[in-house]
Amino acid sequence: MEKIRMGISACLLGESVRYDGGHARDRYVTDILGQYMDFVPVCPEMEAGLGVPREPIRLEGDPGAPRVITINTKRDLTDTMTTWAERRVGELEKENLCGFIFKSKSPSSGMERVKVYTEKGTSVKKGVGVFAKAFMDRFPRIPVEEDGRLHDPRLRENFIERIFALNRWRRMLEGKPEFRFPL
Ligand code: SF4
Repeated sequence: MEKIRMGISACLLGESVRYDGGHARDRYVTDILGQYMDFVPVCPEMEAGLGVPREPIRLEGDPGAPRVITINTKRDLTDTMTTWAERRVGELEKENLCGFIFKSKSPSSGMERVKVYTEKGTSVKKGVGVFAKAFMDRFPRIPVEEDGRLHDPRLRENFIERIFALNRWRRMLEGKPEFRFPL
């Protein structure tokens, strides 16, 4: 049977794309969900040209409209990241994704509660990663979750149900057979 198409933050698959050359492989995602899902990896910071290793970035300013700033040299990468994110979510239209798994806490990929810093260095957990926001704005009906929340059984079950419901709906419209997940 065809696997379900899912977007995912690339570091969760074990790709060495984090700012320090590391990754954040999630075994539940790769070893369990990977049996049923075909992942489309996205690393916003790599794809926007920041490279590896790179200076880490963070969100600063107004939590409702934060800037993307490099931590040490204070370069403002907001335009670079937002322009790239808008283009990338446009490309993802063609991928027929039934969901997206984001890396939590990231200023690029975090889905919620990302730290936004003030000039004085204090922070509030009210931000959304630049790419995650662009994705959720473009695809409000596609189920999304973060890696950490997937380890909560109730949140995980809810997420998987929504993914399979969307996939079932699309397959029905295409006249293709239903795919069942052995929960
Ligand atoms: S959290 Fe996002 S930007 Fe950071 S390494 Fe993972 S995929 Fe790349």
